[in-house]
Amino acid sequence: MEKTLAIIKPDGVKKNIIGEIISRFEKNGLMVSAIKKITLSKEEAKDFYIVHEERPFYESLSDFMSEGPIVVVVLEGENAITKTRKIIGATNPADADPSTIRRDFAESIERNIVHGSDSPESAAFEISYFFSEMEIRH
Ligand code: UDP
Ligand code: MG
Repeated sequence: MEKTLAIIKPDGVKKNIIGEIISRFEKNGLMVSAIKKITLSKEEAKDFYIVHEERPFYESLSDFMSEGPIVVVVLEGENAITKTRKIIGATNPADADPSTIRRDFAESIERNIVHGSDSPESAAFEISYFFSEMEIRH
């Protein structure tokens, strides 16, 4: 079984749709393997998104991701990485397929409700960024 990291971003937490988002993952056969609500400092947000450090949106994205609490979730299932990103939808909600989380809830390309790891390598980095071995070993 594959594992991936999803994040309900500060906009998703503020909209009070944590349950709705988790439910969409569960209805598509993914299981919650680990979960917690935390608040990142700006430096922690920058570290998490270090792959984007040269991009023009890096500072703004790091401000957004540290503006309030987030929920970090390890999802487990068959093809969990691809499946999670399909349920989330395209980065820009205007391009996202109908019935995806971003199409239904996101306000903009930046404030797009949820994150999902994009490869096995990023899933491994991102899960270990937030969870210890003890928290995910079941
Ligand atoms: N983002 C942004 N402007 C852009 C592209 C991305 O603000 O032009 C933000 C957005 O919140 C996105 C995150 O940066 O989710 C990471 O970008 P990425 O290209 O990895 O998109 P994702 O994998 O989240 O779809
Ligand atoms: Mg990405």
